[in-house]
Amino acid sequence: MQAMVFDKPGSPLRLVTMAVPEPYPTQVLVKITACGVCRTDLHVIDGELPHPKLPLVPGHEIVGTVVRTGKNVISLKQGDVIGIPWLGYTCGVCRYCLRQQENLCEKALFTGYTMDGGYAEYTVAYEQFCFSLAAQYAGPEGTPLLCAGLIGYRSYVMTGSNVRRLGIYGFGAAAHILIQVARHQGVEVYAFTRDGDKGSQDFALRMGATWAGDASARPPEVLDAAIIFAPAGELVPSALQSVDKGGVVVCGGIHMSDIPSFPYRLLWEERVIRSVANLTRKDGHDFLQLAPAVAIRTETQHFSLSQANEALDALRKGRIKGAAVLVM
Ligand SMILES: [Zn+2]
Ligand SMILES: [Zn+2]
Repeated sequence: MQAMVFDKPGSPLRLVTMAVPEPYPTQVLVKITACGVCRTDLHVIDGELPHPKLPLVPGHEIVGTVVRTGKNVISLKQGDVIGIPWLGYTCGVCRYCLRQQENLCEKALFTGYTMDGGYAEYTVAYEQFCFSLAAQYAGPEGTPLLCAGLIGYRSYVMTGSNVRRLGIYGFGAAAHILIQVARHQGVEVYAFTRDGDKGSQDFALRMGATWAGDASARPPEVLDAAIIFAPAGELVPSALQSVDKGGVVVCGGIHMSDIPSFPYRLLWEERVIRSVANLTRKDGHDFLQLAPAVAIRTETQHFSLSQANEALDALRKGRIKGAAVLVM
């Protein structure tokens, strides 16, 4: 099969021909239809996340078809269309797994980071960590749901239940999905983009944002909560300044530049800063059930497998409206 392989930080991915992987007894072999390109892939490739598997096939927003099942696979069969997310495996017995926090599992494996992922024609995945997909998400347009959508949804849930005005910092793949959920629930969205990025601000307004502006600006209304998807630590004090008493600021990314110091009064009055790490399978089931009910539509920009470096570069430069997807 063909795959794009990451060898070391600083060098571009390499197109290689390699053996199709063999599934373990509890895994399925999947022929990949498409794989989304996520900002986390950039963090892996830039060496910002420790100890990736090397060499590595990146990619963790995979839609594909089961072509073979390991001998202990129960619920999936040949021909099933499935989604493979970032969370690839958990141990089931550590203290986090036992208290419904498998996203923090000590022995977790992550697709396209500590296991090979979806920048390839085939991959293997543990049956228990695959999701079935509604028919409308069985192609490239389904891929962004599997990380951008899921992590966005987990972040959204973490903002609490009293949110009427939500700030979103960074209007990329996650935000363009999340805004549809928020609007569906009657929540107003205030979108913050890189300063002067009119294109993304127009995109946010088109997607239903009440207001869109520069990340350095103050919103016209005080916000009940904010989610930061952009990997820029300086947005944290900014977001705190824009949220009401008791408001939550959720950092939704896996990596962020350093957060500058700020006066205690920005945190005072029970404002909360928190991060969101990975996902649980419950998040996946909840969100993928909600997606067709909200009728979430994704905007995708397609690249071929061998164009993975170009897709990553476009994402890095903020040139993708919606989500970049490799279509095999
Ligand atoms: Zn565990
Ligand atoms: Zn991701």
